[in-house]
Amino acid sequence: MPRTLDTADVLDAVPRGLLIGGAWRAAASTFDVRDPFDGAVLAAVADGTGADALDALEAAHEAFPAWRDTAPRERGEVLRRAFELLQERAEQAALLISLEMGKSLEEARGEVRYGGEFLRWFAEEAVRIGGRTSRLPEGGGTVLVERRAVGPCYLVTPWNFPLAMATRKIAPALAAGCTVVLKPADATPLTSLWFAELLREAGLPDGVVNVVTTSRADAVSDALLPDPRLAKLSFTGSTPVGRRLLAQSAEQLLRTSMELGGNAPFLVFEDADLEAAVEGAMAAKFRNIGQACTAANRFLVHESVAEAFTARLAERAGALRLGRGTDEGTDLGPLIRESAAERCAELVADAVDRGATVRTGGARGEGSFFEPTVLSGVVAGSRVLEEEVFGPIAPVQTFADEDEAVALANGTPFGLVAYAYTSDVARAHRLLRRIRSGMLGVNAGVVSNAAAPFGGVGHSGFGREGGEEGIEEYLEVVYGLIAD
Ligand code: NAD
Repeated sequence: MPRTLDTADVLDAVPRGLLIGGAWRAAASTFDVRDPFDGAVLAAVADGTGADALDALEAAHEAFPAWRDTAPRERGEVLRRAFELLQERAEQAALLISLEMGKSLEEARGEVRYGGEFLRWFAEEAVRIGGRTSRLPEGGGTVLVERRAVGPCYLVTPWNFPLAMATRKIAPALAAGCTVVLKPADATPLTSLWFAELLREAGLPDGVVNVVTTSRADAVSDALLPDPRLAKLSFTGSTPVGRRLLAQSAEQLLRTSMELGGNAPFLVFEDADLEAAVEGAMAAKFRNIGQACTAANRFLVHESVAEAFTARLAERAGALRLGRGTDEGTDLGPLIRESAAERCAELVADAVDRGATVRTGGARGEGSFFEPTVLSGVVAGSRVLEEEVFGPIAPVQTFADEDEAVALANGTPFGLVAYAYTSDVARAHRLLRRIRSGMLGVNAGVVSNAAAPFGGVGHSGFGREGGEEGIEEYLEVVYGLIAD
């Protein structure tokens, strides 16, 4: 679908300040948000400090009791109105995402659909926060179990899905009755600022959502995490940063949710529908230019079908059109920054040095571009297998049987998602038990869905976003023992 909106008009509609207590305010300085396509400045936004962050937390703290006590139906209806406004303005959101993050407009539209679903889902979940009662086993009293909102939350989001990573946290937090301080990534703050204004239009009371943009993430976290007014940290980002924030959260014994990095295996068995497997591989690898925590990082293919699969994948990958995300016809945009393209080149060089063959791509393009790449004969120990690639590189290894496939799949401390293509239903069930990851896509190259509990195990973190489980992250269980 061609672009219908003017870039300048959409950028003009984005607030540039900090949203604190329902008002947009300037900060002492600003930082530039750049187009990853050519480095051009898209906008200068407020560069929040630790002091600004504490003001935002105070606003969230003040707004909390009234929001917690707002009828669940009313909280849900604000989310529902936000969902509807987002549908009306989906093209604006998609254009902003594409501009600041670089993905194609078509993919950005997909993110708007996906991100919006969290608003709709948690609008429905707000009225289903349950509890239970039970008689004491020995008699003489009743236990009354309730769930209540934890309090003000600090939400930290990455740049790769500027809208969806925000709605995936904000929607369950608001549904539960929590207030928030959102800190978007400095590469992509514009979508969050735009979305915060949309939430205000949807009728969200002042102070319930506060947004602090900053180029100094550590200063904001250093101010907020030790503060006793804060009840929870929900972080999505890399494992090293998550580890650091987790350590800082220990001081106040904060509740934490950690959605961290991945190293997803993509298994293709001898009984798979190969054309479907290639289709799934294209989505699992090249969606978001490979910059997804769920991106397939390692392709493990049965030796009897490895050549056919690899040749077809290389053909499809080689046909992808690179370009500016907002231009019609672009399949793959630039990586988020030049250093990311440089790192991809290093990963390919390392794999080739150890004996891998480049089947397509393998080189940097201009600026932040990197060619869609397929490597075969990748040797164990290669960096591309051990590190989270976060770019359009598909390394293929082979296996001889299911046991070896599972052992290779589990050969990583990460455990976010795995993919498996097979026509054997019993095998699918076995894999769900045997593969150490929070999610498994069977004959599916994308697993994310607002109705399902997204999250990882091991070094991919803990906590779940979406599904019935998502709201639990923002609730604490309390009980009363009521004597007869
Ligand atoms: P990142 O860890 O560099 O940054 C994530 C967020 O943390 C940003 O808002 C950033 O400003 C902030 N941050 C960075 N350093 C900080 C510090 N010292 N103190 C406080 N905050 C700090 O990650 P990224 O490059 O933005 O995103 C890519 C990573 O996110 C990948 O590892 C990817 O797998 C992961 N990710 C995970 C999920 C998931 O749900 N598991 C989803 C998307 C992305």
